Amino acid sequence: MAEPTEDLQEKIALACRILAMEGCVEGILGHVSARIFGREEMWIRCRGQEEQGVRYTTIDAIRRVDFNGRGRFLGNGYQVPNELAIHGEIYKKRDDVGCVIHAHPNEALICGITDLEFRPIFGAFNIPAMRMALEGIPRFPRSFLVTRPELAAPMIATMGEKNICLMKGHGVTVTGKTVEEATVRTLNFHALAKITLQVAQTGRTAPDIAPEDVAELPDLGSTFNALWAWRYYVRKLAQEERR
Ligand SMILES: [Zn+2]
Repeated sequence: MAEPTEDLQEKIALACRILAMEGCVEGILGHVSARIFGREEMWIRCRGQEEQGVRYTTIDAIRRVDFNGRGRFLGNGYQVPNELAIHGEIYKKRDDVGCVIHAHPNEALICGITDLEFRPIFGAFNIPAMRMALEGIPRFPRSFLVTRPELAAPMIATMGEKNICLMKGHGVTVTGKTVEEATVRTLNFHALAKITLQVAQTGRTAPDIAPEDVAELPDLGSTFNALWAWRYYVRKLAQEERR
């Protein structure tokens, strides 16, 4: 499970830039972290003197801190996210989580504040996103900034064992075993939110797909669902950044 921590640092920086490229985060808001297995520590996207936004995240902004955001590796001039507690408190409570992503995507925001339901309205188009809708997405009803552990606790309770939580009037928190898995999950949720919103905007109602069609939608496995998709986004990012 454990992987070299330098690789994690690099992956977090890539995840930040990919999420920005795909419109999940904008400007300077949003952060990604990864647990350093075997320690009570994580790598987390911080802000430094040279801050230019999540789209332009460099490796040096990914700092090593404990679950309370402290430690000698934070470095001068860097500050942890205001919402560090989202990350630290999840790692404290859930051993299964290796990566936490917190973002403020517009479409998910609108779905949240208008109480649009996420339903399985498509199938093979995007199986992981369909399953997310089918299994239900926890909704945390409060809109505050999660600046303290006691504010993170009710959100984590709402999230339960799930890997996603829609935070009303705020954003989303997504978890995964790996950075790759959490990133692709965030992008799949982003697709679900965009489609749910676009369908609502047509004024028509989309029915749920038939159960017998759901039954013919296999789990294509983590290589297909996370690793290959991740590699696509890494390649796309490299191409965008060459321009
Ligand atoms: Zn936030």
